[in-house]
Amino acid sequence: MTDTPRLTSPKEVRALLEQLGHRPNKGLGQNFLIDANILDIIANTADIQSDESILEIGPGLGALTERIIPKAKAVTCIEKDPVMVNYLKSRFTDFTLIESDALDVDLDALFAGGITKVAANLPYSVASRLMVEMAECGHRPALMSLTIQKEVADRLTAPPGDGHYGILGILTGVFYENKLVKKISPTCFLPPPKVWSAVVRMERRTVPLIGNSEYPLFKQLVKSCFSQRRKQIGTILKKLGIEPVDALLADARIEHSERPEVIEIERWVELARLLA
Ligand code: SAM
Repeated sequence: MTDTPRLTSPKEVRALLEQLGHRPNKGLGQNFLIDANILDIIANTADIQSDESILEIGPGLGALTERIIPKAKAVTCIEKDPVMVNYLKSRFTDFTLIESDALDVDLDALFAGGITKVAANLPYSVASRLMVEMAECGHRPALMSLTIQKEVADRLTAPPGDGHYGILGILTGVFYENKLVKKISPTCFLPPPKVWSAVVRMERRTVPLIGNSEYPLFKQLVKSCFSQRRKQIGTILKKLGIEPVDALLADARIEHSERPEVIEIERWVELARLLA
């Protein structure tokens, strides 16, 4: 093994993990990307300019980190695993490392402090939650280039009428335009996960589809309705005690018999506005 292990060499990554006495932690979603092409795609999708500050969540051994540090003005990483933290500290100097669970970090404060983009191979168990939390930030980032489970990427990008369309795509979709960039085979990771993954690009809308003050009611409405996604919207609203349902739906250009999964984001926003 060379002094600085190549993180795209399965052999060198295995040897490094052995040297660290570390077994990849399933609970922390430790599937390390070892495919240079995919790592380049994540870094390039973030379109990092030399005057920009970047956030990476879950840097692991640093395979993506080493690609974004040379491109950015500053890189901040949040990593939960102390073994990864110690290794990252020995491998890189020119970055900021927050040793914490990303869910416990005030992400909005980081964005308010000048971080404008996120590039990450997210820990899968908390990926959806993190995407929604980042989208909801008052200082939400301009662009996010993320690797997530393919199934979650489908939910993020599905159009109305698709079986995957729902809460995740709608709550992020009012603030971002979400696109699937590249599907990733399990063989690109060490150890390989059981499922396919995907790189997604979330680009902040110039004008959000909803105002900050309207968002909480909108979120509550969408979550309540999608918890009964097979029912007709008119029936759901009546059950929620909303009156008069038909006049309200007519104003929002929604048929009583439509199901939540066919209603576009714009009509959800309109319905929430009328309810407010
Ligand atoms: N970026 C590396 C790569 O692409 O090879 C590792 C990605 S691995 C999918 C996810 C990383 O997130 C692991 O290093 C894991 O320790 C870390 N992690 C898991 N849960 C976390 C959490 N809640 N907060 C911060 N880091 C977390």
